[in-house]
Amino acid sequence: MLGLMQDWPLLCHRIIDHAAINYGQRPVISRSIEGPMHHTNYAEVRTRALRIAKRLERDGIKLGDRVATLAWNTWRHLESWYGILGIGAIYHTVNPRLFPEQIVWIINHAQDRMIMTDLTFVPLLEKIADKLPTIERTIVLTDGAHMPATTLRNAVPYEDWLAEADGDFAWKSFDENTAAGMCYTSGTTGHPKGVVYSHRSNVLHSFMALQSFRITSRDTTLPVVPLFHANAWGLVFTSPMIGGALVLPGARLDGASVYELLTEYKVTCSAAVPTIWLMLLQHLEKTGGRLPDLRQVLIGGSACPRAMIKTFQDKYGVDVIHGWGMTEMSPLGTTSDLKAEFASLQGEALLDVKQKQGHTQFGVEMKITDDAGRTLPWDGKTFGRLKVRGPAVAGAYYRDETDLLDEDGFFDTGDVATIDRHGYMQITDRSKDVIKSGGEWISSIDVENLAVGHPKVAEAAVIGVAHPKWAERPLLVVVLKEGQTATKEEMLGFLEGKIAKWWMPDDVVFVTAIPHTATGKIQKTTLREQFTDYVLPTAVAAE
Ligand code: AMP
Repeated sequence: MLGLMQDWPLLCHRIIDHAAINYGQRPVISRSIEGPMHHTNYAEVRTRALRIAKRLERDGIKLGDRVATLAWNTWRHLESWYGILGIGAIYHTVNPRLFPEQIVWIINHAQDRMIMTDLTFVPLLEKIADKLPTIERTIVLTDGAHMPATTLRNAVPYEDWLAEADGDFAWKSFDENTAAGMCYTSGTTGHPKGVVYSHRSNVLHSFMALQSFRITSRDTTLPVVPLFHANAWGLVFTSPMIGGALVLPGARLDGASVYELLTEYKVTCSAAVPTIWLMLLQHLEKTGGRLPDLRQVLIGGSACPRAMIKTFQDKYGVDVIHGWGMTEMSPLGTTSDLKAEFASLQGEALLDVKQKQGHTQFGVEMKITDDAGRTLPWDGKTFGRLKVRGPAVAGAYYRDETDLLDEDGFFDTGDVATIDRHGYMQITDRSKDVIKSGGEWISSIDVENLAVGHPKVAEAAVIGVAHPKWAERPLLVVVLKEGQTATKEEMLGFLEGKIAKWWMPDDVVFVTAIPHTATGKIQKTTLREQFTDYVLPTAVAAE
């Protein structure tokens, strides 16, 4: 027997309808690419999104067509998303930090028909435009006054283009499993892989996210994390869904600019990768700034160092929610949100829990397995391949035949993790970054997390370097804070007693910068290449 409830497809544009009706005046504030701050609200975002939908139709864009966006987080990007979604076209966020050849590959693979770009990326697009045969038209997200002279095909300033349509339009309705958006993961091997979100998965993810990133209509949220990094972690759906105000940072993500937004607009919640927070904390240290309004920050994308959680909590009174996820998971998988049994923890014991990537929300199931696919125990010690399933987890990549799921429908995340008996997962590594020393595994992330706790250290990475006896041994690569000096002995002394002896790095090198990927993660592949010929002092001794 089937249920007898209404068929009300979970469509993303219903979220902006809800926001406009219930929270129409809640602000959406952006730092524009042109410079000045821009103020709008959910009612206006919806009105303009309807005009975009109508205008897109006039350009022949229809259900299933891909519209690329190469843009920062601004109101124009936001309203374009809802306009695209409202006719069943597919937003395709392209990460501008990728290499131009990767951008070309991605746009061609997705067969995007139109591209909406910020002024920032016009020169980049001009260089690759002749390699993008599917792009029929370029919309530059600006007004006529700021429109640059450009060689781009059919380029038009967004505001002029939009002015050609009124808002007399009704959203289209279709199956909730219709594709809504695309985002390519920047795979370190092979070509990028296209993840295709559906309306249903986006809406469900939005509900799911609220379980641990608890925002209400009284909050003002600053998603520093870009829309092109896994849907800005869903916050452009979650915030309008509950009527929270949005502050969008545009192109300026440095410490001073983020601080200005946090204080000027009394931001209560924010989300970004650790690198962004590092820049903010350095700015605060330099200027003595405070964060009186900020209540919680969601930190993920790569492991959040323990020292960062402590500084936010103890020095600035900000609650850190450490989150783990990936593009393939829409992206939220787990958060370090405190279960009831941990609610009264304090000090180091509290940090022990918060530092973990945490437990799943309803809507994600996880397991760890060995290489043969056998399920491993949740004892907090055993490492295994982390696998997940759920309604907002990828089942396949776009135009790719690879079978992604095991026989129980779980997706292999490529991460290695432990899970404790409380269900708190801790990432120990990417499976390809784990250091294999004498047949045992060393977690590079654990050692990195400890090293960045040293007061002189700005950033640290640990990689495996060839060793004649042990196959690989860890090398600690350190970037010191501005004006600091330190020695190898000082670094190793700091780690001593905090990790197993055989996990201790065999050497320490100081560098001025550590390479990052397009989504702000430490680029271990490049770092390993940089140090392929590095001879560890212990390697010499062993020979
Ligand atoms: P992306 O799809 O670019 O968001 O990358 C997803 C990958 O980032 C995951 O598979 C992890 O390897 C890594 N990652 C994300 N969040 C965390 C975290 N909190 N701690 C450690 N690694 C993380």
